[in-house]
Amino acid sequence: MHNPSLKKKPITLFAAIILCCLFTSMADSKSILKDVRINQSDGETRLVLDLTEKVKYKLFTLNRPDRIVIDLYETDLAKGLKTKIKKSGLINEIRIARNNSRRIRMVIETSEILFYRLSAIPKNSNPNHRLVIDLKKAFEGSKKLAASSVNRKKFIVAIDPGHGGKDPGAQGSQVIEKDLVLKISKKLKKLIDEEKTMSAFLIRDNDSFPCPGNKKNCRQQESLSERISRAKKGGADLLISIHADAFSDSSVRGATLYALSDARKIRRGSDYKVMYRPKTKNNVRLQSKSSRKSLSRLTEDDLDAQDQSIEVGKHILREMMKEVRIRKKTPREAEFAVLKSTSVASVLIETSYLSNKNDEKFLINPRNQDKIVEAIVRGLKSYSASIRKDLAKK
Ligand SMILES: [Zn+2]
Repeated sequence: MHNPSLKKKPITLFAAIILCCLFTSMADSKSILKDVRINQSDGETRLVLDLTEKVKYKLFTLNRPDRIVIDLYETDLAKGLKTKIKKSGLINEIRIARNNSRRIRMVIETSEILFYRLSAIPKNSNPNHRLVIDLKKAFEGSKKLAASSVNRKKFIVAIDPGHGGKDPGAQGSQVIEKDLVLKISKKLKKLIDEEKTMSAFLIRDNDSFPCPGNKKNCRQQESLSERISRAKKGGADLLISIHADAFSDSSVRGATLYALSDARKIRRGSDYKVMYRPKTKNNVRLQSKSSRKSLSRLTEDDLDAQDQSIEVGKHILREMMKEVRIRKKTPREAEFAVLKSTSVASVLIETSYLSNKNDEKFLINPRNQDKIVEAIVRGLKSYSASIRKDLAKK
């Protein structure tokens, strides 16, 4: 964001003369907005403003309807330039108007709250100075999870037993992680399937290493993104990845739940910003147009929802705490690959430490495995009840 200074300085006569001349020369070099172009690719929308000269600008965002506003200073509109641009990609409408003698205001109404990035590209081989605004969806996973947990359709959970095949994961003295987490995952699937409104599927249901195209072997990174794409293909509302930890310090104990806020799902170092985020209790609210819709018919398009991976994680942890030793009372944010998809909400549960004798003993006991999966299912139900209650109030 660039903030032009609008502070007024006291003007002496001498300064006024200089100012007058400066103004004239600036007026001569006024920029002209020549064109506004919109491109789309892969669910992202790019808006390009072609200007004859570098301009001062200011950008801010507004909510309900969701808008990005750009003020261009000392700028004229090219003759014949359209001042209203219709729906395209993630943009609902663009309106351009002269706000006052110094300023042109461009209002970009977007389809929902988005991630945006603005870059200024100076003239090079291209004769224009360009302002480029990239827009992309960021909350699909959050919206889907919140909507599916309250409407009457089946809530689908993808369960990812960590590791598998060539990758054993953590080594305990009596069990290895890949076998243990498969066992727990199968129990979780069975319990979820017993619920009328839920169903589950496993990302792997045997001792295999998930790879794209069912290849026998692939790199770790490919396997991790394959797990996400299997979750997406299965229409999952939530991906739960099950692990068991190991640590050099064998005294470390307890379960940990990891989840990422949506902003952190965007690549580190990315210059995307999020449009204004409404703060609500569960980070969920109905879009204004959907306020009279019955909750049982809600779809993801009816909601503004953020950070639902964290929200569902809180409920699961709260239930786990009753039966299982845990390390942290709130979800921890860590950039594990399976947590980074913005299109599927996800949590990763380290059920506890195989490097700790007591934890291992606890984990290999089938009754305790039951306790863990029962807590997860109770957590899912409690999440759903909480979202339903929150949306019903509005
Ligand atoms: Zn693991």
